[in-house]
Amino acid sequence: MAGLYIHIPFCRSKCAYCDFYSLPVGSILKKDPGSLSKYLKAILTELEMRAVEINEPISTIYIGGGTPTSVPMPELTDFISSITKKTAAINRRFQISEIMEFTIEANPEDISRETIDSLRKSGIDRISIGIQSFETAQLEAVMRRHDSNTSLRALAALKDSGINYSADLIYGLPGQSLDSWSSQIRTLLDFEPPHFSAYLLSYEPGTRLYAQKERGRVNEADEQTACRMYDILIKSASDRGYDHYEISNFSRPGMAAKHNSSYWNLTPYLGLGCSAHSFDGNNRRINPASLVSYMKALDCDKKTLPFIEEEETAINKVNDYIITSLRTSAGLSVPMIIKKWGDTIATEVRTNLSPFCATGGLTPLGDDCYRIPEQLWLKSDSIIRDAILEAD
Ligand code: SF4
Repeated sequence: MAGLYIHIPFCRSKCAYCDFYSLPVGSILKKDPGSLSKYLKAILTELEMRAVEINEPISTIYIGGGTPTSVPMPELTDFISSITKKTAAINRRFQISEIMEFTIEANPEDISRETIDSLRKSGIDRISIGIQSFETAQLEAVMRRHDSNTSLRALAALKDSGINYSADLIYGLPGQSLDSWSSQIRTLLDFEPPHFSAYLLSYEPGTRLYAQKERGRVNEADEQTACRMYDILIKSASDRGYDHYEISNFSRPGMAAKHNSSYWNLTPYLGLGCSAHSFDGNNRRINPASLVSYMKALDCDKKTLPFIEEEETAINKVNDYIITSLRTSAGLSVPMIIKKWGDTIATEVRTNLSPFCATGGLTPLGDDCYRIPEQLWLKSDSIIRDAILEAD
């Protein structure tokens, strides 16, 4: 089984903490009113050209960004229908046509019963919504465009529609107290979402928030506060019956995100659009994080593939696996390492892991599998740093 990821890089404005590749949709359209249509067409061309890279049926599709729902709805749903049809055609090669999960990211200001119904008709069966907070002051502090009421209305519409959905929250926001964070989680979980994600706010160089911190205008949550917020998060989720299956992801039993889970278990995926990454099970391909370069390659008579290929050493591949697997409840499987990279590498990994097994930093799960206990996931970086293998 393989995944398909599609990147829509347009947003209505830039959030203060965001370091994703995203472009202001207003200015793009002002320069060239046809630019969104040309971009979506280029993605369909890229899919046709790269279909040969897929050696397994596509079982999950994820449209992320950016803000995919910043594309006007009729254009967006036409595009989704085309992706659905083209994917079905690709899958016919394997005599399987079923797509198990088709997710789109959306912002609360774009979600209503009408938009949900239109998205569903085009093939979408899961919506991932960026709620981030239910307090308007916190949303304003990081320059989100929506307010508290919009978050509540969007969640009510999702719940009412019966569609599968996930909601994102951020903790450690400027001005967020422990009580406020508890109340954010309570508010979200009262909607009983099938899935939610919670991320600790990070201050990435180059973002407006980072500059504000450097000038002393905002304070980053200190480590103790971040840990207490994390403790509140995992307790609240467990009290309400959620599985904490990855450091930032929680689901009702059986509702874990299929597409995102594939990133953690080495499932191949094809990434389309600017800045998208692909993984064929061995090597990674990266599309340019530039609309101009991407369009130059695909929107011309001599269509060319935009990606560059990253030659990965076996050590890099094992380390990618160690980093991602140790952030999941399924943990790291030594038999999987033996199967993919051989006994010598597996012995090195075991050697690196053994001190943590002795001190409780890692828990054996049986069958030569290991995980970091849930309480330590927020500090998993320090364990992972010592667990990864050194390059030759
Ligand atoms: S909406 Fe999402 S992708 Fe767009 S700027 Fe905000 S955080 Fe970044």
